[in-house]
Amino acid sequence: MRPASVVIVGAGVMGASVAYHLAARGWRDVLLVDRSDGPGRGSTGAATGGFRAQYGTAINVRLSLFAREKFLRFRDEIGVAPGYLPAGYLWLAGTRAELDILRAALEVQQAEGLHEATEVSVEDSGCAASRCSGGVADRSHRAAPRRGRIDCRRRKFARAHSDRGRARDGRVLVLWPTPGVTGKPFDISVDREWIDTVTAMAHRRVPILHHVAIDAACCRAGLYEMSPDRHALLGPAPGCDNFFLINGSSGHGVMHAPALGQLLAEIMSDGAASSLDVGALRPSRFAEGRPNPVSGLL
Ligand SMILES: Cc1cc2nc3c(=O)[nH]c(=O)nc-3n(C[C@H](O)[C@H](O)[C@H](O)COP(=O)(O)OP(=O)(O)OC[C@H]3O[C@@H](n4cnc5c(N)ncnc54)[C@H](O)[C@@H]3O)c2cc1C
Repeated sequence: MRPASVVIVGAGVMGASVAYHLAARGWRDVLLVDRSDGPGRGSTGAATGGFRAQYGTAINVRLSLFAREKFLRFRDEIGVAPGYLPAGYLWLAGTRAELDILRAALEVQQAEGLHEATEVSVEDSGCAASRCSGGVADRSHRAAPRRGRIDCRRRKFARAHSDRGRARDGRVLVLWPTPGVTGKPFDISVDREWIDTVTAMAHRRVPILHHVAIDAACCRAGLYEMSPDRHALLGPAPGCDNFFLINGSSGHGVMHAPALGQLLAEIMSDGAASSLDVGALRPSRFAEGRPNPVSGLL
């Protein structure tokens, strides 16, 4: 058996992206290992595949714009479609405080050149929202039929998108993060109380959903890989130069994986990323006491 030149632990979207980008740069004998019985069995398989560039920090906006470019040429580069559908992304503010968070983030987005991000008023709630060209992407071939989207432009529930044809028209995905089970941080069982809570919230926000049944068999839970400042960790681990981190995307990993994978391949190959300044993501920032500002946006 030949020794591996690099071992990647975890065959989720991050591991796959790094492996691909290393191979594309000429690395050979790249070994991707996973403790599960197949790829995409972790958070990647549980994700909804949402894509957006509406963030409250410049680095996250830049990562999204870089990833978006890559999603748009994914089919040409990789040979398969990523299922990326630029359908738009809408944040709703329910309170003045939430509106202030969205407005502060909008300023960051505009400064980063994301001029399509705008504030619009929503007559029926008296609040305001900010939108930009977001969308959905395929996060995993396994779970693709479970995702859905709402097309706000047509003011009705749009067709749930699926490349397998198993999702039916009118299917809507509702999701809500919880702190998880006390004492069992890795528990991913679905609890009935959560379904009732998220259903009641959905009914309050979108009353027409009162007439839509919850498909209990499709309900699922997964783990958000949160970092202390809700930004990814990318680069060598402090004190161990040949051990590289690409994690902690804090719920944005599917959309940012094409960008992060390329950036880490650049770091590993050349000693630094050239496509984007990723200093803000250096793992050492916590030990230095210089984390990124935490935005109120998830
Ligand atoms: C409900 C939910 C919704 C989400 N929605 C979105 C979304 O809309 N958009 C978005 O961009 N992101 C979303 N995310 C976040 C996204 O899923 C993650 O950011 C992303 O999947 C992280 O990818 P990963 O490869 O780092 O982790 P994972 O997919 O969890 O992969 C890690 C892999 O490592 C393996 N592993 C762990 N420990 C070991 C070990 N010791 N030895 C060997 N293998 C090991 C695991 O088996 C796993 O396969 C969502 C997440 C959840 C849970």
